[in-house]
Amino acid sequence: MRNSVGFFDNYMAAADILTIFVCIVIIILMTVSYIKKEQNFIIFRRMPFILIIAAQADLLYHLVFAGGDGFSPAACITYLVAYGGFIISLYMVMAYIRATVWKEDFQWFRMRYVIRVTIALSVAVMAALPLIAGKTHLSYEHYVFTGIYTLNMVLLLVMLYRSRGHVFGRIYAGVCGSAVLSLLLMYTQLIFRQTSYTAATYLFPMITLLYLMHSNPYDITLGTVDGDAFEDMIAYSYGTGKELYLMSLFIRELELSGGSIPKEVQQRVRFYGEKYIKNAQFFRISEGHLILVLDTARNPHCEEQANEMLSAFYNEYAYFGLAYKIVFMRSINEISARNEYIPMIQFLHTRMEENQVLYVADEQIEEYRKHGYILDQLKDIGVKKDMNDPRVLVYCQPVLNTRTGYYDTAEALMRLKLPDTGMVFPDQFIPLAEKYGLIHTLSLIILAKTCAEIKSLLKEGYNVKRISVNFSMIDVREPDFAQQVKNIVSIIGIPFEKVAIEITESQNEKDFLLVKEKVNELKDSGIKFYLDDFGTGYSSFERIMELPFDIIKFDRSLTVASGANAKIETMVSYLAHMFTDMNYSVLYEGIEDNEDEDRCVRMFARYLQGYKYSKPIPIEQLRNYFVKA
Ligand code: C2E
Ligand code: CA
Ligand code: CA
Repeated sequence: MRNSVGFFDNYMAAADILTIFVCIVIIILMTVSYIKKEQNFIIFRRMPFILIIAAQADLLYHLVFAGGDGFSPAACITYLVAYGGFIISLYMVMAYIRATVWKEDFQWFRMRYVIRVTIALSVAVMAALPLIAGKTHLSYEHYVFTGIYTLNMVLLLVMLYRSRGHVFGRIYAGVCGSAVLSLLLMYTQLIFRQTSYTAATYLFPMITLLYLMHSNPYDITLGTVDGDAFEDMIAYSYGTGKELYLMSLFIRELELSGGSIPKEVQQRVRFYGEKYIKNAQFFRISEGHLILVLDTARNPHCEEQANEMLSAFYNEYAYFGLAYKIVFMRSINEISARNEYIPMIQFLHTRMEENQVLYVADEQIEEYRKHGYILDQLKDIGVKKDMNDPRVLVYCQPVLNTRTGYYDTAEALMRLKLPDTGMVFPDQFIPLAEKYGLIHTLSLIILAKTCAEIKSLLKEGYNVKRISVNFSMIDVREPDFAQQVKNIVSIIGIPFEKVAIEITESQNEKDFLLVKEKVNELKDSGIKFYLDDFGTGYSSFERIMELPFDIIKFDRSLTVASGANAKIETMVSYLAHMFTDMNYSVLYEGIEDNEDEDRCVRMFARYLQGYKYSKPIPIEQLRNYFVKA
């Protein structure tokens, strides 16, 4: 016989069963879909399991242990597991929010205390009811639980309210909304004298969290979405013919700090995104790179808005002082079609100063196009590996030997001559070639072409002491670097001492040891070594002594500085004297006039190089400088 006390008549298993199945679906989704496994996810993962246990206990409690006025320990246990589980699953939601947004906030300390006490008391009250009444099924238990439920939900809402400044608006609204809906459902069932939906009310906050945080790439604190979402949006807008306005902000310090954006900066960023401009979408491309996108049809005054934001930003800048790079641009079909805004903006960053604002115009797009073209050509050169590739040119700067008064050495400098762009200078392609792993082929081509020209010059009777070729650290790191260099020189058939290799000071211990190893490996063959750009790095005197270099090239900055400041002249002169005493030869770069020349001669110059003598010229024209023996 069923007991007809209180709510028992109105319990239907359907809602609990449904809740259990929805939880199982959530568990399956969590295992099969990609979810960022952050710390808060570990908290989240427990929620459906707890709810399954609670809903199952609720089911048992109402169906199996229904009826009977007495006190049954088994019924009491299922009762406790059910109500305790419900309360704890709401506590998990609170813990989740804490872990996500209140990471280092001291305010949380008091709040945590309040929450823990409330939760513990809630469980205790529910546990006490049957013990006090001396029977398991009570007519008023559900009223008491609804009261506790309300209290807990209010606590959750208070907690959300207190973290409102830390959470992106839409997410905040989503979680609050679902909490209110849960309360509504709870009261609705009360009105209909139902107890079936209790478990289901706990699904709302859980589903909201899953959807907002883990199924799409929202960043909870900034309200941004990531680079993939940005590309999707570009593709979609391009497909529907929408014109967009892009505002990009890059802050190097944030990029390097690994993502821990200071709270105040977070707040400012949210403020811009949510309040300043309506219907804008905010993307976080990388730690320090944010892009705000507007639909120009809906924001016809986007340019003025951008400028307003900029002046607001300058005020912020005065306070935070983080160096920035800002890019404003309208979408361009060509770039949209290839979905290349991110690489394009990253490219523009490499050309920008810190604290610069760039309004992208045709000029920048042309530059980016050229960059793409150069990269394609470099890749093609890398694939063909033709040592005679006509696109790679050797230019040379003759170097004056102060001891003989003749030009008998020179430095080889690379140029590219490409079908569409004509001559390309090193600053436009060397960093690119290094970044894409294409420099090594270029270096070997320059070496081969230089050796071939040395051979001709020698055959024609010119006095060529040697020509130096630049190699980068990336070349040196090639495992058979030394062997490749030897092969090229010996196949072309010139004496090894006619070739020199210029290497820049290395910035770290590992590279230093590697350079040392390679230099020693090649030194025996007779090849000479130059230390390039001395004075720009951090290498100490001792360090350099460990390497068997022949010539130390004093960087142009030392030449310039010694002309401007007598103290620096004394210091540079002293260094050059020391090197000379240690059997190194000193070469000064960047000699532009007689004054430079006189000073550098006073400062122990053995070799002089610079525009005063010649700008870089095609290597064949060295015949105008070198003399016949
Ligand atoms: P670097 O090795 O320090 O080369 C000297 C640079 O200073 C050359 O620029 C040269 O044209 C310039 N220069 C020479 N005399 C003067 C002067 O009197 N005043 C001024 N203001 N500049 C002068 P360039 O040819 O544009 O080369 C730039 C850099 O590109 C080189 O600096 C070198 O680091 C790199 N590079 C050039 N060719 C090669 C190469 O074949 N391989 C590698 N790895 N790097 C190269
Ligand atoms: Ca050089
Ligand atoms: Ca140099």
